[in-house]
Amino acid sequence: MKVNSNPPTPRPVNRKLGAPTPANITPPAAAPSTFAADGQINNPATTNLSPQTPASIAPSIQRDLTGGGQVTGGLAQTPTTGAPRARSAASTGASRFTAPNTVLRSGAKGANVTKLQQRLKELGYDPGPIDGSFGPKTDAAVKAFQRKSGLSQDGVVGPKTWSALEKAGAPAPAAPAAPAAPGFKAPNVTLKQGASGQHVKTLQSRLKDLGFNPGSADGSFGPKTSGAVKSFQKAAGLGQDGVVGPKTWKALEKGSARPSAPAPAPAAPKFNAPNVTLKQGASGQHVKTLQNRLKDLGFNPGGVDGKFGPGTAKAVRNFQWAAGLGQDGVVGPKTWSALEKGKSAIKNHGTPPSNANVPGLGATQNTTGYVNGRARNIQVAKVEGKLAEVDTAKAYLRMKQAAARDGVHLQINSGFRTMEQQRYLYNGWINRKPGFNPAAKPGYSNHQSGVALDLNTQGVSRSQGTGKVYNWLAKNAHKYGFKRIPIEHWHWEYQPGLAKYR
Ligand SMILES: [Zn+2]
Repeated sequence: MKVNSNPPTPRPVNRKLGAPTPANITPPAAAPSTFAADGQINNPATTNLSPQTPASIAPSIQRDLTGGGQVTGGLAQTPTTGAPRARSAASTGASRFTAPNTVLRSGAKGANVTKLQQRLKELGYDPGPIDGSFGPKTDAAVKAFQRKSGLSQDGVVGPKTWSALEKAGAPAPAAPAAPAAPGFKAPNVTLKQGASGQHVKTLQSRLKDLGFNPGSADGSFGPKTSGAVKSFQKAAGLGQDGVVGPKTWKALEKGSARPSAPAPAPAAPKFNAPNVTLKQGASGQHVKTLQNRLKDLGFNPGGVDGKFGPGTAKAVRNFQWAAGLGQDGVVGPKTWSALEKGKSAIKNHGTPPSNANVPGLGATQNTTGYVNGRARNIQVAKVEGKLAEVDTAKAYLRMKQAAARDGVHLQINSGFRTMEQQRYLYNGWINRKPGFNPAAKPGYSNHQSGVALDLNTQGVSRSQGTGKVYNWLAKNAHKYGFKRIPIEHWHWEYQPGLAKYR
């Protein structure tokens, strides 16, 4: 087998690779002879190598990845704060539309349906009467909107459709004609404060369309609606009695009267950080809140879709850099607090250093790595004179920096291994040479995909760490994407890297 050009394993292997002394790793007699997540073998006393198949490795890794991407705090589905409301209003100018966190389909009823119908109407679709009842006309309007927005036309108003409704261009308040209110027809009734019902809803919706603020379109003619009617009457040159009779209806139909001052944008409410921790893999309303906030502050999360993907993670890290925080991409109390402070939290301006400039990152090169016994080209970078898969190296350096701030010095004892190095370790182990530790079959160690790092967790027991380095890692490594495998306290794997190579 061709061996790549990396330097051969230095001897003595045990020390140079940083594995613990043999005394440290004496396994419990009953240890199972299966692979741990990293492809190493838990029980060095066992010579039966048959379980060393990739299949025996994969499930535990899968489990790790699933667990690692979830939201801690668990409140991702709770309703959001007022922040997106403010943003919506600011970004669209005219519209104060904020999508509710609910799914609507034909047959649904209630205030959210009213909201949907109003929004469709604002956007020039005809949902039928604004009556809070999701019937065939509303269904048709939803489908028409979905078609126009490139969404699947299922008539179901879920997160994607709401998001598109939110983003859709709102009519400009200064437009000379009534903004997209094709269905509006004045009913033949007189309304005044105290009235309620469908006609009041129609009135409120129309006032809103024209830039007046009747409060919520709840079908109840209260003081806010009365105030909006009076403002409208004033703008239309009518007597300001607050009573909606034929003249006022006619003016509403015509729709040319506009508020004298631009519709007052709601005073930007203070951004209120939710009390949850978010990281890549999270989803829901809080992620949307986060994405909106990042966007407002000039950090592009790649879309406001409620999904915390790599784009959002990058925006978070860039924001953290700008705010002088550790760039772990995890939105916890400190990051939320900085997001709350907004522009005033930003200390570093300009372009965040690209990943290529992570301090401590050495030259990168392409080399042959192995995953599940199969060779593939991987990019490795030099870090502390060792090699590691490049994203792993960057994540490690971010982690190292954070550890240093806490007075803990991290060091890599063993990183990427060439086939030759892994073969050497494996042969030493199966031949029971003194000083050799359990090693995975060549081609199957995650040191060969470059995502596994053996760190300087000396001085701790085999399965349970007690040292300063271990304790720090146990508490913090997950924030940087690192997870250790059971049994081996020194062996940490970068999960996003793992996922990438699977
Ligand atoms: Zn290891």
